[in-house]
Amino acid sequence: MELRIIDHPLVAHKLTRLRDIGTDSPTFRRLTEELVTLLAYEATRDVRVTPVTVQTPLALANGVKLSAPRPLVVPILRAGLGMLEGMTRLMPTAEVGFVGMARDEQTLVARTYAERLPDDLTGRQCYVLDPMLATGGTLAAAVQFLVRRGADHITCICLIAAPEGIAKIKELLDDLQVPCTLVIAGVDERLNDVGYILPGLGDAGDRLYGVVG
Ligand code: URA
Repeated sequence: MELRIIDHPLVAHKLTRLRDIGTDSPTFRRLTEELVTLLAYEATRDVRVTPVTVQTPLALANGVKLSAPRPLVVPILRAGLGMLEGMTRLMPTAEVGFVGMARDEQTLVARTYAERLPDDLTGRQCYVLDPMLATGGTLAAAVQFLVRRGADHITCICLIAAPEGIAKIKELLDDLQVPCTLVIAGVDERLNDVGYILPGLGDAGDRLYGVVG
């Protein structure tokens, strides 16, 4: 698994504002979208393209277009949804599939509660969106799911990761015979004893959408 930590002052600035407890939900959503667009620029460095020729007003020009099958963007519900707009702004022709995963707050094990993905992902490049890489269980389960359906190139985009989560996902994904890249804006200190990232930003889903009782 290739790890790309994006070292850029605009990314660091927006991430700092996201962490701030004083940032309200509408601002948090906007910052998340902006941050993901910046990360998406790096994350799509390996997107497959096909040569094309276009006619300019003056002459023919050689260029490229996104290859078929189109890339698939997969936000992990609920918090990954907040990252979707920022990703599709950069790659509007991508297809979007959804995986709903929740972790059991006692065991911290991920459970799939919803899924809306093509049955056959053969030859697909997939971009998985999940803001917080904590224990790594949810993201690893989602990636394994996509690879079982035939995806042959996976890029995960996260805002903040814990070292424990990076180690876990590396261990699980290195066994897959598929190239995987993890793109993150920041690596934090550690997990606390209930699986939250420290210092982190709290519960990303709650901060995006408010607390669901
Ligand atoms: N999920 C979150 O939303 N925040 C964390 O810190 C860990 C998991």
